[in-house]
Amino acid sequence: MVVVYNIDSGEYLFVNKAIKKILGFKPEDFLKWGFKFVVGLVHPDDLPIIIEKNQRALDLMNKKGASKLDSNFYESFEYRMKNTKGDWRWLQTDGSVFKRDGKGKIEQVINISIDITNRKEIELRDSIERKNLEESLRKNESRFRTLIENSSDVVVLIDKNGIVTYISPSVKNLLGFTPEDLMGQRLIHIYPEDLQITYEKIQEAMANPGKLVFHEARVNTKRGNHIWIEAVGRSLIHDPAVSAIVVNFRDITDRKNLEESFIREQNRITNLLANVPGVVWEAWGDPKADHQRIDFVSNHVETMLGYTTQDWLGTPNFWLKIVHPEDQKRAAQEASAIFKSSLGGVSRFRWLSKSGRVLWVEAHSFVVKDEKGDPIGMRGVTMDISERMELEKRKDEFISIASHELKTPITSVKGYAQILQQYMQNFSSDKGDDKSLIYLSKLLNQVDRLSDLVNDLLDVSKIQSGKLAFRKEIFDINILVSEIIDDLKPTFTHHQIVFEPKATRKILADSYRISQVLINLISNALKYSPKADKVIIKTQSDKKGVVVSVQDFGIGINQKEKNKIFQPFYQANTKIRQSFAGLGLGLYICSEIIKRHGGEIWVESEKKTGSTFNFLLPFRGKG
Ligand code: ADP
Repeated sequence: MVVVYNIDSGEYLFVNKAIKKILGFKPEDFLKWGFKFVVGLVHPDDLPIIIEKNQRALDLMNKKGASKLDSNFYESFEYRMKNTKGDWRWLQTDGSVFKRDGKGKIEQVINISIDITNRKEIELRDSIERKNLEESLRKNESRFRTLIENSSDVVVLIDKNGIVTYISPSVKNLLGFTPEDLMGQRLIHIYPEDLQITYEKIQEAMANPGKLVFHEARVNTKRGNHIWIEAVGRSLIHDPAVSAIVVNFRDITDRKNLEESFIREQNRITNLLANVPGVVWEAWGDPKADHQRIDFVSNHVETMLGYTTQDWLGTPNFWLKIVHPEDQKRAAQEASAIFKSSLGGVSRFRWLSKSGRVLWVEAHSFVVKDEKGDPIGMRGVTMDISERMELEKRKDEFISIASHELKTPITSVKGYAQILQQYMQNFSSDKGDDKSLIYLSKLLNQVDRLSDLVNDLLDVSKIQSGKLAFRKEIFDINILVSEIIDDLKPTFTHHQIVFEPKATRKILADSYRISQVLINLISNALKYSPKADKVIIKTQSDKKGVVVSVQDFGIGINQKEKNKIFQPFYQANTKIRQSFAGLGLGLYICSEIIKRHGGEIWVESEKKTGSTFNFLLPFRGKG
């Protein structure tokens, strides 16, 4: 598009036809409406720029001597104009001086314009795309930077020489050093003992680009201590955009400490278990049920029995399968009862080792319960007590032999003493013999005590070897009690025995053994109530049988010792016991006699107010 116009009047002198193609107007329109109209078509954003630019250029061209220049061209403009359809078209217009007046001042200008709308649109699109790209790059970078810098993990870039080229700020929290302290450094703060392996890991990463390499090491901090770190590295040395080994690391000191204390604890338990001279075990389910599962058994089984731990763990109820056939039923019942009692307990039985050796063992079991308190399993320790059992057996044998061997001479001593007593009473007249008679009766008393003690020992050894036999007969308990009271009368002086016979039925029992029980209880009642003046004996029948009770008003028995006094050799009241002679066997023998008759024996007592010993005998006995 070519136009020529007059600067002062704004009149167009020439407009070519191309105007139609570019802006849709006819040349006549411009010629008719003039420069002002055309200026009105320029985009308001572009107008001030081109007016100013135009003025400056014209001023330059109006300067003195400018008319002598070779070229008349003075400026080029890019701007938008509205076409007849109302669309904006981009034009590039070169302005040149067309005519000057006589003084050389510019009078007419020629503008040559081309339509650059297409080019402009492409440029615009490119620039928007570029801007968007830049924006998204910027956002991404900032996002990753924020992520790295705010992460509690530390990110380090290490070059191929092992020098730190970047380290994220979180290193300050971990090690106390700032990134500046560490940048450009080698791995100087790694704990000396871990340095070698750390370099080896770096080599491994370098040799395998892209492969993740894991590592744990100790690192010294600025605070003077060291922490454990866990690092994951990957070599991106060959990636020109990174050309570094990228390492991520974090503080795992707490975890390490926990692991170490866990391992220490585990070692401690393993060592402890290895040195326990017994089998430590854990099992789930009722031990009687065939599917009881053994979960743990200590290595000691191998030394003790020759079976491996695998033998135990692989076979349900293995412990029961190797129990001596004679003990098997009882051992299973006892284990099951302990499991159900949920209290734990002790059981003794024999085990057969792999080579067939018989071992006596004692199992101490503890019950494991679920949240509801129901038993679910057991833990325990089973110890070889063969030696102890052997010693006990020998002790029992000794007691049995000793008491047997003592019995004959004691009987002889007693016999001779009685003969001597009779002889002196009948034939002596010497005055000095009265004293001898007193000594003789004292001798006989002591011989009686000795024979009682030996009899007790003999009974205990019979009980323990299962040889205590009963000769049962039907008798009236009231008559038996009366006879015993009469027999005992000479032995007590300041007590009165009150007897209340209310039993109505006879019983079937060994009357000799029952009188032994009665003598024991009555003697105890007299012995342990030295300050009282009476002992009350009652008999009565109830549904199950006859109940006999012996009540005294003596020193009593405290709660804790009530059950223990029925154990062999147990003597309560240790402080005052010196004043009462005895072996602590009487009540044990009584309770065995009563139990083997199918009865029960028990005591009711308050300390200092006295005790009542009771026993119940079923009418028809047992066994
Ligand atoms: P011993 O009388 O020979 O010591 P026993 O087996 O007869 O043995 O009794 C065991 C223990 O029970 C006694 O040592 C005593 O402490 C206690 N005991 C027995 N009977 C009585 C009683 N009637 N009153 C108080 N304590 C008693």
